[in-house]
Amino acid sequence: MSDARESMEFDVVIVGAGPAGLAAAIRLKQLALAAGSEIAVCVLEKGAEVGAHIISGAVIDPIGLNALIPDWKARGAPMETPVSDDRFYLLGPAGQIRIPHFLMPPLMSNRGNYIVSLGLLCRWLAREAEALGVEIYPGFAAADVELGKAGEVAGVVTGDLGVARDGHHKPNYTPGMALRGKYTLIAEGARGSLAKQIIARYGLAEGRAPQTFGLGLKELWELPKEKHRPGLVMHSMGWPLDNHTGGGSFVYHYGDNLAAVGFVVHLDYRNPYLSPFDEFQRFKTHPFIRPMLEGGRRIGYGARAITEGGFQAVPKLAFPGGALIGCSAGFVNVPRIKGSHNAILTGMQAAEAAFGAIAQGRAGDLLAGYEHAYRSSGVYADLKRVRNVKPLWSRYGTALGVPLGGLDMWCNRLLGFSPFGTLAAPGPDYARLVPAKEATPIAYPKPDGVVSFDRLSSVFLSGTRHDEDEPVHLKLRDAALPIRQNLPVYAEPAQRYCPAGVFEVVTTGEGPPRFVINAANCVHCKTCDIKDPAQNIVWVPPEGGDGPAYGTM
Ligand SMILES: Cc1cc2nc3c(=O)[nH]c(=O)nc-3n(C[C@H](O)[C@H](O)[C@H](O)COP(=O)(O)OP(=O)(O)OC[C@H]3O[C@@H](n4cnc5c(N)ncnc54)[C@H](O)[C@@H]3O)c2cc1C
Ligand code: SF4
Repeated sequence: MSDARESMEFDVVIVGAGPAGLAAAIRLKQLALAAGSEIAVCVLEKGAEVGAHIISGAVIDPIGLNALIPDWKARGAPMETPVSDDRFYLLGPAGQIRIPHFLMPPLMSNRGNYIVSLGLLCRWLAREAEALGVEIYPGFAAADVELGKAGEVAGVVTGDLGVARDGHHKPNYTPGMALRGKYTLIAEGARGSLAKQIIARYGLAEGRAPQTFGLGLKELWELPKEKHRPGLVMHSMGWPLDNHTGGGSFVYHYGDNLAAVGFVVHLDYRNPYLSPFDEFQRFKTHPFIRPMLEGGRRIGYGARAITEGGFQAVPKLAFPGGALIGCSAGFVNVPRIKGSHNAILTGMQAAEAAFGAIAQGRAGDLLAGYEHAYRSSGVYADLKRVRNVKPLWSRYGTALGVPLGGLDMWCNRLLGFSPFGTLAAPGPDYARLVPAKEATPIAYPKPDGVVSFDRLSSVFLSGTRHDEDEPVHLKLRDAALPIRQNLPVYAEPAQRYCPAGVFEVVTTGEGPPRFVINAANCVHCKTCDIKDPAQNIVWVPPEGGDGPAYGTM
């Protein structure tokens, strides 16, 4: 880092304006207000506005918001649709079976939860934070960590603006700024780019099970009035995924004739020919789903990785000078597909530890109080009791692994222990693909333009834009590897796992095939960084403000 950079000093610097980062900011200010003291807090957000990069289901367990802002209802939080009907289905190619409630472990119930747009909720939280004096800077990506003299994290550096694709400085060049803080809270969500660096630098994942992920794809639909059932929550598993590929769908009816229609594919899938995007499109053609969507209009699209490693993959949370909060650490309860409540609660826990430390005159050290608070909290208990569901699913497939996961949850509830102990994932997601010669190619149907669509029209709906003349933010450690190794061994799976069509292998007949990166289409889901079998693709933040422009995802 050059000393010529401009810098700003804060007590706490927070990276990411999702539920975790905003909850931490609000809690810090609440504590200062109660103590009659001052605390300077800033939040950096790479989206052009708060919420622009937020995508979730979302059925929210209000436990987090109740703790953070108990009078959220009176203050107008956009949590308008309570869940009124909660259904779970097993899909086959031509039909469906509804799984009765009495078989489902009680923790899976959505009674008392709300269907929301997490993007709208974050915009509301940002207004609450600003009213308390938090400085929020949307359009600024934290590109690097700033290290202090003792090797502690002392803040972050924002990305340079106005750099051309070939590296030269354009007329609008502005070097990034250093934002320094006594503590830095990393709230980047799943597979954060700074979190990844910090976890490696301080060995935070040593002794933990590998973190694993799902890819969540979502569309927003406007349904005909007569088909809209506000408060309906539907989940399914099974078709179109095969027995050895984990995942499932969600459909949430809420608001003004809106339905959130989504699909999650566990990224430990094995067949390199699989395309999560096309599995999602195929799901919507099921005879149980298609009639609900016909006559409706698709108005939004997006995709994002979800942390799924759970309890046994949560890294050490504190590092010198800061902490990981929310999905940067990975607090998603996988069978419930819920992480936003734990993001809020862990943001609050870290804020309380940081506030206490600053009040004692400390800075740049380990926030051990946060780790302790997490371990004695409901978040820890929430994750612990479902810790074997994903590993059992990964090991034994849907038909056997899911019932075993259900049994495990019932044993935890009724007997207080798990018959399986604590199982780890069978390995990191990138190591799970089998070579293409051992896999069966999958022929996906052509999109019908009514309920199923192609990638390009989908990306258009995400509002994604990047300056064509900026450095490519998908870095290849070895530029020749995709064609030299990934193509012959895995039929280059990036062409299929990317939900935005960023990667192509172009064969013209003249010369060897070329690996092309259409970086402008990237929706920042982070799947390439997770699933590339050689771990050759590194996602780094592009210019602040670039990326999707999600409205109400
Ligand atoms: C499709 C899908 C469905 C889901 N459904 C549900 C559900 O129904 N209920 C539920 O509770 N949970 C659900 N989840 C999980 C939930 O969305 C997450 O647990 C939650 O959003 C995590 O909050 P967070 O604040 O940790 O991260 P995020 O919500 O991901 O927010 C991170 C923020 O940080 C910003 N950021 C990242 N890196 C940088 C950087 N370097 N510089 C600046 N800004 C940065 C991002 O742009 C983003 O705004 C779902 C997730 C997905 C993807
Ligand atoms: S390039 Fe990577 S991060 Fe971007 S949309 Fe494709 S898989 Fe996701």
